Amino acid sequence: MCSTYLKWKTSGALKAALLDQLADINGIYVPSLFQIDYHPDGSVRYITSTKQGYEKVVKRYVRNFDAAHFCTSSIVPFMQVIHDRISLEIARGCSRGCRFCMAGMIYRPVRERSVQKILESLKQRLPAPAMKSCHLHR
Ligand code: SF4
Repeated sequence: MCSTYLKWKTSGALKAALLDQLADINGIYVPSLFQIDYHPDGSVRYITSTKQGYEKVVKRYVRNFDAAHFCTSSIVPFMQVIHDRISLEIARGCSRGCRFCMAGMIYRPVRERSVQKILESLKQRLPAPAMKSCHLHR
């Protein structure tokens, strides 16, 4: 997505060209390339694509979460902050799947990182003295 954007930016082409190119990448939804027709009650009558071959947007997600990129450094301010801590992404999705919850639905399927991967990331991101006092390290 970024390389498509950078190429477009230097090309001087119109925004419509960028949207057209982005639509060629699996998983990207470009709303302006669809026309929605409504019933009088506001419900959707039909949806049509204005770009040939772009009738469906297939959901794209990281399947093997353990093999996915793990952020090894955090952006921090130059001052001591109240919540002096790091964030570790241990899972995507939620195993509970409550029907009212957007996060529980749109981040499906549930994927969890292995304990070993989480500990590896923790070791990379925590300074050594802090790591020694971490109870997970023992
Ligand atoms: S509300 Fe959402 S995040 Fe919370 S348990 Fe239910 S599905 Fe999971």
